[in-house]
Amino acid sequence: MTEPVYLDNAATTPVDPRVFEAMQPYWLDVWGNPSSVYGVGRRARRALDDARDRIAQVLNCRANEIIFTSCGSESDNLAIRGAAQAQAELHGWKHIVTSRVEHHAVLHACQWLETHAGFEVTYLDVDEFGRVDPADVARALRPDTALVSVMYANNEIGTIQPVAEIARAVKVANASTLVHTDAVQAGGLLPLDVEQLGVDLLALSGHKFYAPKGVGLLYVKRGTPLVHQLSGGGQERGVRAGTENVAYIVGLAVALELAYREHAERVAQVARLRDRLVDGILSSVDGARLTGHPTERMPNSASFTIAGADGESLLLNLDQEGICASSGAACTSGTLEISHVLRALRLPDDEARGSLRLTTGVRTTDADVDRLLAVLPAIVERVREVTPTLVG
Ligand code: PLP
Repeated sequence: MTEPVYLDNAATTPVDPRVFEAMQPYWLDVWGNPSSVYGVGRRARRALDDARDRIAQVLNCRANEIIFTSCGSESDNLAIRGAAQAQAELHGWKHIVTSRVEHHAVLHACQWLETHAGFEVTYLDVDEFGRVDPADVARALRPDTALVSVMYANNEIGTIQPVAEIARAVKVANASTLVHTDAVQAGGLLPLDVEQLGVDLLALSGHKFYAPKGVGLLYVKRGTPLVHQLSGGGQERGVRAGTENVAYIVGLAVALELAYREHAERVAQVARLRDRLVDGILSSVDGARLTGHPTERMPNSASFTIAGADGESLLLNLDQEGICASSGAACTSGTLEISHVLRALRLPDDEARGSLRLTTGVRTTDADVDRLLAVLPAIVERVREVTPTLVG
């Protein structure tokens, strides 16, 4: 069997062999509990401390501002629920500002606070490219705004948000309103200097930049009030109980360090292949349109709508050709489901249902792009023939 053509690096990435190698001692050799006082525990603690130091270098923060978690979703939940609850206790503030295009890890955490904790949430609209206007954020702020959460880059359409500008606008209005950014898609490809971003909280997930699935982190600026969401031991400064997953944390640190050591080459490579996909598809597929911002977008992200084609059928046909891709539209039991992100762009249904996302990675090759471009036009024609026209 030939290797599949993997163009879904926003969903997950394969573990870098160097990351895999760096994790090996922490299964059979250095297996101690990092909280134990004896040798094998102390060695695990040193590995943990070293990982934290290395990550802090990349983020330009202090090592004790890093909290290790199990994934990006956990980091987002800890940031949003933890900060919101702390602000309510400290000041009685119960208002949150976020956008309509956030990942469900953020949106559902906000909805939980609305349903269970009496918070009010303002969901900001975005422009046709999926961008949040910092002026809209400033207008939405209230004296009781506890938290603003706007993602760094969108997972479906690749649009990069003006996070630094948003953070500045928030801090000018009220220095005590906290700013969180979900940087899960940005991790490994966009600059992560938290001083420059000006945020209080930032979430990352290892599996988007060639570390394993099941490990993430939350940057928590010193002095940021946060109520822990997982009770138990005093690990992670009492903010996140649970014996640390040393092997995965080592993998996370090595992967992050490699991503930024090789940053320029990686960005150039994924962007060049991404541009080939965009140019190739827009010139060979009638009715294809780029979604997301034309320039302020992730270097690895090519996302489209293909009018008159059904996204899910496109994926199934691509899969038959050995190509892995993704879509923001699905047809579940005969009903068309269009993602909240595509809805927020206010696209007509007929266009939105033909959503196709292709994301390049460090292992993507020119041959992969050639293969996709060779088969897509015929697949689109085939899918269009069987896609019923939407009425109304
Ligand atoms: N936030 C964004 C923008 C994402 O793309 C994802 C995952 O796709 C997450 C959060 C959740 O990360 P995890 O899969 O590590 O829970």
